[in-house]
Amino acid sequence: MENVVIIGSGPAGLTAAIYAARANLNPLVLAGGMYGGQLMLTTEVENYPGFPLGILGPDLMIAFREQAERFGARIENVDATSVDFSQGPFTVRTAENEYVAKSVIVASGASARWLNIPGEEPLRGRGVSTCATCDGAFFKNKHIVVVGGGDSAMEEALFLTRFGKRVTVVHRRDTLRASKIMADRALAHETIDFIWNTIVEGVLGTTHVTGLKLYDLKEEKRRTFDADALFIAIGADPNTQMFKGQLELDRMGYIVSPDGTSTSVEGVFVAGDVYDIRYKQAVTAAGLGCRAAMDAERYLEALEFPVPDVVMP
Ligand code: NAP
Repeated sequence: MENVVIIGSGPAGLTAAIYAARANLNPLVLAGGMYGGQLMLTTEVENYPGFPLGILGPDLMIAFREQAERFGARIENVDATSVDFSQGPFTVRTAENEYVAKSVIVASGASARWLNIPGEEPLRGRGVSTCATCDGAFFKNKHIVVVGGGDSAMEEALFLTRFGKRVTVVHRRDTLRASKIMADRALAHETIDFIWNTIVEGVLGTTHVTGLKLYDLKEEKRRTFDADALFIAIGADPNTQMFKGQLELDRMGYIVSPDGTSTSVEGVFVAGDVYDIRYKQAVTAAGLGCRAAMDAERYLEALEFPVPDVVMP
């Protein structure tokens, strides 16, 4: 019987592991086949406090992992495949094992959507990115393209105007999905321009992005377009497939939590991007991981030493 099983190993899961391990809970982390979460896909992280010169995303996650292991967290590089939260103790399964746990922290994160076009994968971290906050500063005075028509795309485009000499939004329709206030702001911005009814079909470049292949859906015409960076902002999907029917999810699939740690099942806690659609930062995920571990600890304490019912005379 495990005290706490943590599903996920990004900043949320590993911070939860550090706190749970230091509370002597001997946590088990199901880290996924590729541990470390979305930061493993980024290059320099310049906004994580404590690193004035920045740190590479993978190096930061190695440090998180070492810190959790130093306090005794057991980290298995395996994917959780299914859960049974219908009653406690809870069951978490992997391809090979089944774990029974008094509490579970779900920190399975979200995955940014990619376009899945030629050139995108090899140029990730070399001009192709899904995170303007992480990578925008590398493109000072460059021409940046943002793909998408929702709030994320507008937010990314507006943020990127701080760096790029020009920001072009490429959207597949002729109207934006973004909220009016965000759309108006982007449409009125003097260094943002728009290309409508167009999709990006390929990314050009060998060591870094030099251009894009565009396809105009209305004119049915192809062209190449010079650009130094491509920011893809077409939404993210929370990794909640296995929690359907087990935890309350919102219409977009994020785990519902009234307070940022508890879920619809007592004893199952949530942390990080799998719940947080708003901030989506490593530092906020780490903070949520800390909170989830502290709440799990209190929950386990209450299981062991239940407060007796007060019998009124
Ligand atoms: P979203 O609202 O789902 O928008 C995704 C956009 O990407 C849409 O314009 C969509 O085009 C486009 N798209 C999707 N797949 C594509 C593909 N394969 N190729 C080209 N374009 C593609 O996602 P989001 O912008 O990430 O926002 C998610 C949620 O977070 C929303 O509820 C949003 O309001 C919220 N949010 C709010 C803020 C804020 O208030 N500051 C900031 C960010 C996000 P179509 O329009 O044609 O479908």
